[in-house]
Amino acid sequence: MSDRVKHLARAVVREEIQALSAYHVPDPGNMIKLDAMETPYLWPQEMKSQWLDGLKNIAVNRYPDPSAALLTRRLEQVMAVPSGMRSILGNGSDELIQIICMALAKPGAVVMVPEPTFVMYDMIARFTNMRYQSVPLNSAFQLDMPAMLQAIEEYNPAVIFLAYPNNPTGNLFTEQDVRTIIEKSSGLVVVDEAYHAFAGHSFMPMLKEYNNMVVMRTVSKMGLAGLRLGILSGPAGWLNEFDKIRLPYNINVLTQYSAEFALQHSDILKQQTDQICQDRETMKQALAEIEEIKQYPSNANFILFKVLTRDSAQIFEALKQDKVLIKRFPDTSWPLAGCLRVTIGKPEENEVFLKALKKAFSVQKEPEQ
Ligand SMILES: *Cc1c(COP(=O)(O)O)cnc(C)c1O
Repeated sequence: MSDRVKHLARAVVREEIQALSAYHVPDPGNMIKLDAMETPYLWPQEMKSQWLDGLKNIAVNRYPDPSAALLTRRLEQVMAVPSGMRSILGNGSDELIQIICMALAKPGAVVMVPEPTFVMYDMIARFTNMRYQSVPLNSAFQLDMPAMLQAIEEYNPAVIFLAYPNNPTGNLFTEQDVRTIIEKSSGLVVVDEAYHAFAGHSFMPMLKEYNNMVVMRTVSKMGLAGLRLGILSGPAGWLNEFDKIRLPYNINVLTQYSAEFALQHSDILKQQTDQICQDRETMKQALAEIEEIKQYPSNANFILFKVLTRDSAQIFEALKQDKVLIKRFPDTSWPLAGCLRVTIGKPEENEVFLKALKKAFSVQKEPEQ
């Protein structure tokens, strides 16, 4: 980029955007990819060929159904959205977070989250010029209720995002704490259930109990990350407003067709996520035998653990050498310093990971200088 262009752009681009660095996604090359909470499974051959048959008839020359009505109904069914609630779809739940923030971004309006949590809340708050207030989780990664309630009183947040289970910690907050936060807030509380398929508990059935709660879900963690599709459900009073900001045609024809098709086979998707839940328990047991780490409770398709005896960077690099990619948190990201996060893969991939992890710890430490 020439200096001249840089100069021109700097003069008009918002300063808080200039201060950001672009979201970085590492290139996995030919490594086993256990870094991004994807499902490792594709579809059975028979299902794949049925899907391809239907794909032939998609009219890519036409705009899609602007509100994706059929797919919305199908998703509401599969996700058990209570009757009387309204839903809108997003190009991933990331887009739904963006829609919520755009709608609520009055000057000075606050986005509140517990921390650490999903990074997109922070990023999108910045994109939309909202004030971002985070409240540290306690040492068990549960909501620090006195601090949360005090912050709610002090900042009167327009919106609170609660990832349930939380990413990157993996745990569920207690139901009573979440209920108390909804009850004490006059703004909106978004319960982000991206990991609902692995969680065993949901706020979806409680939608009718509250006027200020919406539930967000995605198909990304249940085997369809490439389609980019999320759903936001709740009282029509909120959803009607959000729908005004949603760009028409935000769900493209290929996604509408493919997601409808996949959800007709939701039994297959469920088999896959059930398998992952089972393999998560196997992984927990295996990790429990490694003395050099401390793992945290997980109700998601990943496990966060802390490296106790080494520099986590050293372990992360050793795993990479053995062609396993997981996620490392920077040393500056207290309380996640020293933490690594592994996504549950296929049983054989988990085996390779565990073997590589044990090997990384068995290598002699460099003697202290
Ligand atoms: C992965 C994740 C999402 C992102 O979902 P997309 O539908 O892929 O955009 C949302 N929230 C949380 C907490 C996540 O971990």
